[in-house]
Amino acid sequence: MIRVAINGYGTIGKRVADAVAAQKDMKVIGVSKTRPSHEAFVAKSRGYPLYIADISKKGSFEKAGLPVAGSVDDMLKGADIVVDATPGGVGVKNRALYEKIGIKAIWQGGEDHEVAGFSFNSDCNYKDTIGRQFARVVSCNTTGLCRIINTMDKAYGVEKVRAVMVRRGGDPADIKRGPIDAIVLNPVHIPSHHGPDVQSVLPHINIVTLAMIVPVTMMHMHVVQMDLKKEPDRNHVLEIMDKHPRIGLVKKETGITSTAELKEYAMDLGRFRSDLWENGIFEESVSCLGKELYLFQAIHQEADVVVENIDCIRAMTGIEKDPAKSVAMTNKALNFIAIT
Ligand code: NAD
Repeated sequence: MIRVAINGYGTIGKRVADAVAAQKDMKVIGVSKTRPSHEAFVAKSRGYPLYIADISKKGSFEKAGLPVAGSVDDMLKGADIVVDATPGGVGVKNRALYEKIGIKAIWQGGEDHEVAGFSFNSDCNYKDTIGRQFARVVSCNTTGLCRIINTMDKAYGVEKVRAVMVRRGGDPADIKRGPIDAIVLNPVHIPSHHGPDVQSVLPHINIVTLAMIVPVTMMHMHVVQMDLKKEPDRNHVLEIMDKHPRIGLVKKETGITSTAELKEYAMDLGRFRSDLWENGIFEESVSCLGKELYLFQAIHQEADVVVENIDCIRAMTGIEKDPAKSVAMTNKALNFIAIT
């Protein structure tokens, strides 16, 4: 049983904790918070021992009715691996502590590749991750891009990728983020950082990305165009996508043409938190023009990296050496009811 600590129990951390708790081969030994919050009460109700970054704040937690198990250092000493899900830029500051304790650590996409010197995606480089001390699970957008690019690269070879990311402005509970009424070019210059981030996992891919932020909270939408090395057959492309454990084809018959309806569909299917862990590729958009492939894919920013963290834990600890088996175990434990 792998003992997992989650440092930073927010949007990603709380999902990773629940996903760990759902697996048969790992357990949550603690989660950390900086201050009392509704999420701390959820941790208590789930039975996750609560540790705090600044132990001098113990009194404020206990006054709120939240028992404190100890400091983050105490939590790390009882764990085999820590998933750092603190905000981008904070995680890197924890590296020295993880080194001192000698614990394995996984960071998230808000940190640069250099934080771990290795960037992970289950589909692309699981076997290269086995036994590593440090890894970074790439961001939600990069995860979604890596999955589809690697899949097409294996089937046809990818000559080049051009992709536009229409990104959500904030997560649903992010009351302070915007924009409220604008389309913000983020960044204005081309390319955006997403292309180089894909290359941190798939260095041989020729990719240019453009990104903008819009006033929505539920999902990102990607417009993806690839030049393939061999001419693809559309039915074969759809078959490959359909078989992929982390790609869900959004069928025309569902009538879904938006992120809002897709999220509602996931909720109605009984997905936990209405999370969509897979890429939602709109079947009708999949178009082949000679060697060119076009598609729209929806990416649930809060969810797709969660399953990647679970596989990354298995790879780093070496408990499962076969990527396909790990992906299947992760999906099954989460009751991954297919959207197609
Ligand atoms: P968040 O703000 O929702 O949660 C971060 C949590 O860490 C909060 O509970 C905060 O109180 C806690 N925290 C802050 N400083 C801490 C410290 N020093 N020690 C322990 N805990 C601390 O952030 P998030 O959205 O979950 O993002 C976490 C990471 O995941 C970032 O790298 C981010 O870029 C990445 N990520 C986020 C999303 C997303 O859509 N939210 C998607 C993919 C990747």
